[in-house]
Amino acid sequence: MGQIQLKQVTKSFGDVQVIPPLDLTIGDGEFTVFVGPSGCGKSTLLRLIAGLEDITSGHIEIDGQDATTLVPAKRGLAMVFQSYALYPHMTVRKNIAFPLKMAKMDQDEIDRRVNAAAEVLNLADYIDRRPGQLSGGQRQRVAIGRAIVREPSAFLFDEPLSNLDAALRVGMRLEISELHERLKTTMIYVTHDQVEAMTMADKIVVLRAGNIEQVGSPLELYHKPRNLFVAGFIGSPK
Ligand code: ADP
Ligand code: MG
Repeated sequence: MGQIQLKQVTKSFGDVQVIPPLDLTIGDGEFTVFVGPSGCGKSTLLRLIAGLEDITSGHIEIDGQDATTLVPAKRGLAMVFQSYALYPHMTVRKNIAFPLKMAKMDQDEIDRRVNAAAEVLNLADYIDRRPGQLSGGQRQRVAIGRAIVREPSAFLFDEPLSNLDAALRVGMRLEISELHERLKTTMIYVTHDQVEAMTMADKIVVLRAGNIEQVGSPLELYHKPRNLFVAGFIGSPK
C-alpha cells in the first residue's frame, strides 16, 4: 500500500505562503514526478509529505489514515537523500543496516533485508567498502539501499542525481525506473529536469510558485499542455 493524499495543504514560512491550498492524490504504486523551476516548492512539498516539515493547514492521508501529525518514522515512507549523506566511517553494509539498527530490529532480520537490498541493487561486490572508495553511482545505490531495507510504502527522492555527471545520470535514471518496475512501490521523484520527468514518470505534477499548473501523464502534458508555462516547461510545441 502507498496511496498519499494531500487535502487543502498549505505551508507558510513566517508571513510567506510558499504552498497555497493544494489538493493532490498519488496512487498506490505510481511513479509521480514533481517538476518545476528552482524555488517553486518541490522540496518543501516533499518534506511536508515526509513529515520533515509541519504543514500550516490541511491534511495528509497515507492509505486513508490521517498522517498529518505523525512523526516521519511513523509514516512508513523513506526519503532518499543525495549520496553524500552516507556515513564515511561505515562500510556499505553498515550504512544500509543503520536505519534498522536504530529501530532495534533483530540481527537476523537486518541481515536478511540488507542481503535482499544488495541483490536488488547489485552491490555485493563492494558491500564491505567505505563510501570514500566508491564511485558516485555506487554511492547513490547505497543511499537507495538504505531506503529499501525499511520496506517503505513509498520512496521520496529529492533530486537524487543532481550531483552526478550527465552520463552517469542517464544510467541511474534507468536503474531507478527498473527498481520501480521490480518493487512496484509508490515513488515520488522531485526534479527540475524536464527530461527526467518525461522519461521516468507515470504522472507528472508541474509546479509554479507552489501552485499545481497541471497533472497528467507525460503524453498528456506534451500533447495537451494547459497553458504556455506548461508548454514551455515541458518543451511541447503549443
Ligand atoms: P525547490 O525545491 O522547488 O527549489 P523549495 O521548496 O526549496 O523549492 O523552496 C520553495 C520556497 O520556499 C522558496 O522561496 C524558498 O526560499 C522557501 N523556503 C524553503 N524552505 C524555507 C525555510 N526553511 N524558511 C524560509 N523559506 C523557505
Ligand atoms: Mg529543492
